[in-house]
This record gives sequence, C-alpha cells and structure tokens, in this order.
Amino acid sequence: MASRLILKNLSKRHLFCSSFASRSASTLVLAEHEGGSIKAPSLSAVVAANSISQDNSVSILLAGSGSSLQQAAQMAATCHPSVSQVLVADSDKFAYPLAEPWAKLVQLVQQKGGYSHVVATSGSFGKNILPRAAALLDVSPVTDVVEINGPQQFVRPIYAGNALCTVRYTGASPCMLTVRSTSFPVPPISVDSKSDGAPISQVDLSTLDEDSIGRSRYIKLSSEDTDRPDLGSARIVVTGGRALKSAENFKMIEKLAEKLGAAVGATRAAVDAGFVPNELQVGQTGKIVAPELYMAFGVSGAIQHLAGMKDSKVIVAVNKDADAPIFQVADYGLVGDLFEVIPELLEKLPEKNTV
Ligand SMILES: Cc1cc2nc3c(=O)[nH]c(=O)nc-3n(C[C@H](O)[C@H](O)[C@H](O)COP(=O)(O)OP(=O)(O)OC[C@H]3O[C@@H](n4cnc5c(N)ncnc54)[C@H](O)[C@@H]3O)c2cc1C
Repeated sequence: MASRLILKNLSKRHLFCSSFASRSASTLVLAEHEGGSIKAPSLSAVVAANSISQDNSVSILLAGSGSSLQQAAQMAATCHPSVSQVLVADSDKFAYPLAEPWAKLVQLVQQKGGYSHVVATSGSFGKNILPRAAALLDVSPVTDVVEINGPQQFVRPIYAGNALCTVRYTGASPCMLTVRSTSFPVPPISVDSKSDGAPISQVDLSTLDEDSIGRSRYIKLSSEDTDRPDLGSARIVVTGGRALKSAENFKMIEKLAEKLGAAVGATRAAVDAGFVPNELQVGQTGKIVAPELYMAFGVSGAIQHLAGMKDSKVIVAVNKDADAPIFQVADYGLVGDLFEVIPELLEKLPEKNTV
C-alpha cells in the first residue's frame, strides 16, 4: 500500500492535524462534459484540485469529439481562476466514456505533463477510469476523498461513512484521487472573473496505441427521459422507502417531487422491491447527495442509506415509527403515516415550483 491509514472515531475528530507545508503542485483534472458544458461534479473536482496547495496549476483534460467538445473546452477555460490550461483530446475513440481508451489517454497525458496530482470525481465516470489509469501508471489511488489537508494528506470515509480516515500518500508521483463532489461545493464564480480564459491546446494522440484501447465497445445508454433535475446535483431530493409498498404508490413521491422541482431518490429496499430503477438509489451503494433539502418518506435511516444523504443541509423525515433512526439525523421530523401526509402536501402545495 502506498498510503498509511489512520482511523478516527465516530466523533470525526482528527487524530492529527495537518502541519503539512503547502508545496507547489500541478494537477490534472479529468472532466466530464455534456451538451457543450462541463458537468457540475467536474467543477467540484477543479475546486478540490485548487485546494491541494496554494501554488497549484490546474489543467483540465476533456475528451470527446465534435463541436460540443470545443464548446465545453471554452467553458473549462473560464470555469475557475485556478485553471491554467485546458487539454482537449478530440477523437471518436473518446465519444463515449469507456474506461480503456480514457485510462490510456490519462497515462499518455500524465507521461507528457508530469503532473504531481490527477483528480477525478467519485461518480461512475471517475471510479471507472481513475483506478485503471493508476494501474497503468503503477501507483495506488486514494479514493472518495472528502477533505484535502495538503498535497499528500486526505480524509476519506470508511465503514459506510461512520468513521473518517486520514491517509497520507507516500507513493510515487502522480498522487491520484477521486473526490466526492458534494464535499467540494463550487462557489459562485462570475464567468468573466478571468477575462481571457486559460489557453486551450490539443492533445497529440499520434502515439496512442490503437490495439490496447479497442477491447470494449459502447452499445447503448439507457436512462429515464425525465424533466426532473439530476439526482446527484438537485437542490431538493424527495426520497421514498419500502413503506411505499408498490411502484404505483411510489408515484406519489414522483408527484411531490414534480411540485417541488425536486429529484426523486429511493432506498435500496424500494429499488430491490422494483418500485423504481436503481439509478435512483441513494446511499453507500447508490448515489451520494447533499441537497439543500432532503425529504425522506417511509425511510428507516439505515447507516447504508445515511451514508448517501446525511450531509444534506436540511433533512425532513416522515415515519410512523417515532424511534426510527432517520429522526436522529433529521432537522424536522414528523411521526405520521405517509399515506396521509403526502396527499395532504400534494393538496396544499401550489402546482409547480421551479426552484
Ligand atoms: C452492503 C450494503 C449496502 C447497502 N446499500 C444501501 C444503499 O446504498 N442505500 C440504501 O438505502 N440502503 C442500502 N442498504 C440497505 C439498508 O441496510 C436498508 O435495508 C435499507 O436502507 C432500508 O430501506 P427502507 O428504509 O426503505 O426500508 P425499511 O428499513 O424496511 O424501513 C421502512 C420504514 O418505513 C416506515 N414506515 C412503514 N410504513 C409507513 C407509513 N405508512 N408511513 C410512514 N412510515 C412508514 C417504517 O417505520 C420503517 O422505518 C445496504 C445494505 C447493505 C448490507
């Protein structure tokens, strides 16, 4: 192992504080883009990269093809004052986020640029690519980072978020990290805060080995076509648990979400029972969310569920069991039957709130 682990207890007190002197760093951020925009979690990765050291130059790596890639590059160039360079890999090989070609690309760019750090988000994009790229570069990645205390010292949750672990990276360069985007909120930055933007350059792909990147094939993307906000970045999330009893009943949660302009979430029990697809699962083995408002209906509050939502700013829980563990993390709790509470809310709320 290239990192030393120091466990912390539930109180989340740090066993040792960082006295790490900030050194200069150069960080490569793997960014995701869609429709000509950088995805919000990748902006959080830039914020995280910026906190690695005071004197850090941040390069953003974008790959894909076509005009939306170039548009995303323009956005990347001005997305944060710390960005010193945008690298664009324009090729059909990167039209889809397949781990094999992307990992090879990261290896190529790293070998040319000699970055001290490589950062991606802990979503499926980063979790898919970064460990594979780390293996190619023969280093051990530090995953799921929630706090950066210096160029080599990081905090990450363990035991479903019940303890925090401080790790010091002692391996070879580069130090590769996946970061939880919910732990690195993006402050409002005006687009013209860096008027000219960082320079954009094309990655020379002529040395990319053709054979080694073609073993996986993109087949299709299946996702629900919905107007609702994305679960990972929504300001409000309305979640239903097993207590909803059926997919038909779960539509009440969807209706409520619609009225609030919210994303829909679900517990694993609700997903396993087939009420909703598993892309809506919140928790240790689902999505990690930290919205401004999280509403949980008929959710017991198992630690694996709390691991995915306990950093929400305001938590509202409705459960008919006054002793349900969800009430221990809730800011507002209502002991009641969701089959009475939700219809009442639906009746009293105005038709649509585009928050
Ligand atoms: C390795 C592992 C990973 C896991 N990962 C996840 C994960 O990512 N996400 C996740 O959610 N779970 C996860 N789980 C499962 C987790 O342990 C719980 O089983 C699950 O979260 C329970 O879901 P629930 O709260 O919907 O159901 P239950 O625990 O059955 O709770 C239902 C709640 O609804 C209340 N209720 C019942 N009827 C009503 C009513 N009419 N009105 C109001 N309240 C009512 C009950 O009082 C109860 O508190 C994981 C488990 C393991 C072992």
